[in-house]
Amino acid sequence: MKDVIIIGAGTAGLSAAIYTVRAGKSALVLEAAAYGGQIINTPDIENYPGIAHISGFDFATGLYNQAKDLGAEIVFERVTGIREEGDHKVVETGNGQQYEAKAVIIATGAKNRTLGLPMEKELVGKGVSYCATCDGMFFRNKVVAVNGGGNTAVEDAAFLANYCAKVYIIHRRDQFRADEAEVERLRKKENVEFVLNSTITKLNRDTNGLTSIEVADKISGETRTLEIAGLFVAIGQAPDNSAFANVANLDEKGYVTAGEDLLTGTPGIFTAGDCRTKSVRQLTTAASDGAVAALAAATYIDALK
Ligand code: NAP
Repeated sequence: MKDVIIIGAGTAGLSAAIYTVRAGKSALVLEAAAYGGQIINTPDIENYPGIAHISGFDFATGLYNQAKDLGAEIVFERVTGIREEGDHKVVETGNGQQYEAKAVIIATGAKNRTLGLPMEKELVGKGVSYCATCDGMFFRNKVVAVNGGGNTAVEDAAFLANYCAKVYIIHRRDQFRADEAEVERLRKKENVEFVLNSTITKLNRDTNGLTSIEVADKISGETRTLEIAGLFVAIGQAPDNSAFANVANLDEKGYVTAGEDLLTGTPGIFTAGDCRTKSVRQLTTAASDGAVAALAAATYIDALK
């Protein structure tokens, strides 16, 4: 029996693991894919207090090593459910394993949203990508487009503009969610064209993959065809907490409903990071949630004795 099982090895989950172990409790982190979560794909983090520049990969690897070196156990299995048994919790995984703990922290983050267009799925790896850092190099000297208006889209467009022939940034409004400083920096790049108030309506392909997209201007009503080799979709994330609906309250979008106390509604089950309802989803707030949830879990366990 572990003291705390943490579901998810992103920034929130690994921060929770560090704080759990440092609070004198044992921690098991269960992760469905790779450690690091969303930040692993960010080329350059510039807004984490105390660190002027670091790649997402280096940041995530530092967190992972720190949690492991402190004694957290990290196992790569997808969690499929949680149930209560007496005063402890049983966490089930897709491998048919069951792990027991006195407390659980759900830190499952969120996953990339898709456009939902015909052929989008088939074109992944053939021109459509959700990760500029992973796939950008395949499009060196080619024309590409980025869709979205948040920090991810603007940073991806700036990153791609460094080695692609041309980058279109397509956004459905004329105001960006991204930090103004990042948008201004992007505006200065000569090979970036802003396509605003516009949505992608169609993906066109040949036998090799994506060849062009059709983009509708919401103001003029006109549709334009952009010949591109690559489309980077950066339209935000959505959570996947459906496996926890029996123990955690979810809002209409599937986020775990929790305030700053990170309580889910079930005693001993806490949440942290981007998978919960919150207004600011940043590295700093994910790390902060991890710390708060871990200390709340430690207090909860002490009260069981
Ligand atoms: P985001 O901030 O949620 O932005 C998503 C963007 O996609 C929005 O501009 C949204 O448009 C647009 N969008 C959503 N659904 C769409 C659809 N179906 N079709 C077309 N456009 C759509 O997502 P994000 O950029 O991935 O960022 C997620 C969080 O991570 C944010 O809090 C962000 O600040 C943070 N982040 C931080 C850093 C950093 O600090 N270095 C880097 C990356 C991300 P509307 O604006 O019209 O809603």
